[in-house]
Amino acid sequence: MPKGLIVKALSGYYYIQPEEGSIEQTIQCRARGIFKKKGVSPLVGDRVIFTMTENGEGTVDEIEPRVTELIRPPISNVGLAALVFSVVEPVLNRQLLDKFLVHIEHAGLDAVIVLTKWDIIETLPPAEAAAVGKDMEHIIEVYARIGYDVIPTSAAGGYGYERLADKLTEDISVFAGQSGVGKSSLLNAMIPGIQLETNQISQRLGRGKHTTRHVELLQLPHGGYIADTPGFSQLDFLELGVEQLGTCFREFHSYAENCKFRGCTHIHEPSCQVKEAVANGQIDKTRYEHYVLFFEEMKDKKRRY
Ligand code: GDP
Ligand code: ZN
Repeated sequence: MPKGLIVKALSGYYYIQPEEGSIEQTIQCRARGIFKKKGVSPLVGDRVIFTMTENGEGTVDEIEPRVTELIRPPISNVGLAALVFSVVEPVLNRQLLDKFLVHIEHAGLDAVIVLTKWDIIETLPPAEAAAVGKDMEHIIEVYARIGYDVIPTSAAGGYGYERLADKLTEDISVFAGQSGVGKSSLLNAMIPGIQLETNQISQRLGRGKHTTRHVELLQLPHGGYIADTPGFSQLDFLELGVEQLGTCFREFHSYAENCKFRGCTHIHEPSCQVKEAVANGQIDKTRYEHYVLFFEEMKDKKRRY
């Protein structure tokens, strides 16, 4: 039986790209009744087994086990999230970046950090340009040191896309980032022939522009798929236990192993190797401060609910 990938879900139909086919030849399918009975429904990103019916349509018979599953946007088998931040307009919010990274680690995804609107730096008054430039250099260094690729891009200057495209070839990817940081512009630049509406209008409406749209996977010219949604712009910690938070800061791992207390929270315990690494500069101080902040936030939530 043929296999394929669900690239779009809309009004009860699933659009499947057959394994051997191209994305232009998707097959419109219904899901078998059995899924409803079991309480599962196919998701965009699912690899499935399907059968063709007489009218050129098909039915989804089986879903292959999912490697990852995101709730928002609802896509399975995402391997990588591109966290999109503009260097100015709006200014990069490191707390939000670290929050995204926590969720990415928790969901088992790989991450790449994309810094957009790099061209605007050059247009700033010299002192401001120098300050933003220095901040960005620091950010690139901090995150590269803990193993995240950081890619500067510019829609206006047309650079950074090849490096980003190279990162996206293997997987299903999503973009995550605040409204207005340039996610749609990135997609438009990377996929010939698509023209997503960019953000000016929806900003005025004060809501995300894709809120009522379906999710669709787009095939990238150099391989890989990307969701055409701006991805998640907000995340919270409801599904993450406070005791798991430390494991989501990947640079803590090698130090946490040697903390004196098992289950050390790295907040107030003596002989905490994580805190020591912060004190002597091996772990970035701001990252640790965000850890403490999230820890407190999560504890508060626990008390409240
Ligand atoms: P989204 O909400 O994240 O999808 O952001 P958009 O792609 O809609 O971009 C928001 C605004 O920023 C638009 O006015 C874009 O033209 C502008 N923009 C996006 N990328 C760049 C860039 O690299 N340089 C400059 N100067 N402007 C950009
Ligand atoms: Zn510790």
